[in-house]
Amino acid sequence: YTDAKMVCITGSNGKTTTTMLTYHILKEAGMDVGLAGNVGNSLALQVAEDPHQVYVIELSSFQLDNMYEFKANIAVLLNITPDHLDRYDHKMENYVAAKFRIMRNQGPDDVFIYWQDDPIISEQLRHIHTEARMMPFSAQSHDGCTAWVEDGTMTVDLGEPWSMPTDELAIQGLHNLYNSMAASISASVLHIQNDIIRRALGDFQAVEHRLEFVRTLDGVRWINDSKATNVNSTWYALESMRDPVVLILGGKDKGNDYTEIEQFVRQKVKAIVCLGVDNAKLHAFFDGKVPVVTDAGSMAECVQKCHELAQSGDTVLLSPCCASFDLFKSYEDRGTQFKQCVNNL
Ligand code: ADP
Repeated sequence: YTDAKMVCITGSNGKTTTTMLTYHILKEAGMDVGLAGNVGNSLALQVAEDPHQVYVIELSSFQLDNMYEFKANIAVLLNITPDHLDRYDHKMENYVAAKFRIMRNQGPDDVFIYWQDDPIISEQLRHIHTEARMMPFSAQSHDGCTAWVEDGTMTVDLGEPWSMPTDELAIQGLHNLYNSMAASISASVLHIQNDIIRRALGDFQAVEHRLEFVRTLDGVRWINDSKATNVNSTWYALESMRDPVVLILGGKDKGNDYTEIEQFVRQKVKAIVCLGVDNAKLHAFFDGKVPVVTDAGSMAECVQKCHELAQSGDTVLLSPCCASFDLFKSYEDRGTQFKQCVNNL
C-alpha cells in the first residue's frame, strides 16, 4: 500500500517527453520522486522495495485498459489522435475511451490537466461527469485555462500567475510548448516554486530519439526523430522545420492517413526516402507531390541517399510516421543506427 501522490501522463504523443520533464522539475525541487510506467522502473516494485512520496508515471492506452481501482491524483491527457487502431478493432471511440480511463476514480481533491484545443478531448468531455478539478492548457486562447501562451510568453495561473518567455524553454517547437505547460501545471499543483519550475524548464535535456540533433555536415543538419511512429508526431516535427527537408519515412504502417501531413510535405519537403520493407503505400500517396521519392532497404543505404540528395542549408529528418519492426528491433535501434551511419559520413 502507498499513499504517495500519483502523477499520471497519457496521450497519443508527448507522453515520454512530458513524463521526463515533470520528473526533472520535481527532482530539481528536491522532492522524493520515482519514475514509473512506460519509462522508468516498475511502479509495484518501487512501492514494495523503494517507496517514494510522489511518482510520475507514463501510461499507454494498453496500461489504462487494465486500470480498475488505481487513481491518478494528477492526471494529464496531452492529446488524442489516431494510433494503435489495429489494437482497438479499428474503432476510434474504443481508443478514446481507453485514454479517458485515466480519469477513473478521480474525486474533488484530484486534478485533470488536458489540452483544451484538442477537438476529440473537448467532444468527449461533454459526455463525462467528473468531480476532478479541471485544469486545461491552450496555445490559442486563455479563456478558462490554467496555462496558456500569448506573444511568446507562457503563463501558468493557479491563483498566482507566473510567466516565462517561450524561447527560454530548453525544448522547442509547438508540441513542446504543450508538454511544458502540462508539466508546469502538475508541478504547480504540487506547490513547487515558480523560479524552480522556470529553471528546470530551461535546463532540461531533450530525450533521445525525439527531434534529437545529430550533427551538421557540409551545411546539412541531421535530426533523429525515430520516435515519431505515427503521422501526428511527424506533423509536429515538420511544423518545427525551417529549412528545406529531406524526409525519411516508412516502416510498419499502423493504418496511417498521410493527408494530415500533405500540406507540410508539399511546402517543406524536397525529397522523401522510403525506408521500409513495403513502401507501396508511401509511393501511392506521395509520388508526384514531391520532386523525388526514392527507396532504401537498409539504414546505411538510406543515409547515403540522403547525403546525396541534401545540399547545404537543408535538413535531413528521420521522422518516419511508422513503427520500426519491419527492419529494426525497435525505434531506439532505428535511431541508433541512423546516428551511427550519420556520424560515419
Ligand atoms: P510518446 O511517449 O507519447 O510516444 P514522445 O515524448 O516520445 O511521446 O514523443 C514522440 C514524438 O511525438 C516526438 O518525436 C515528437 O515529434 C512528437 N511529440 C512530442 N510531444 C508532442 C505533443 N504534445 N503533440 C504532438 N506530438 C508530439
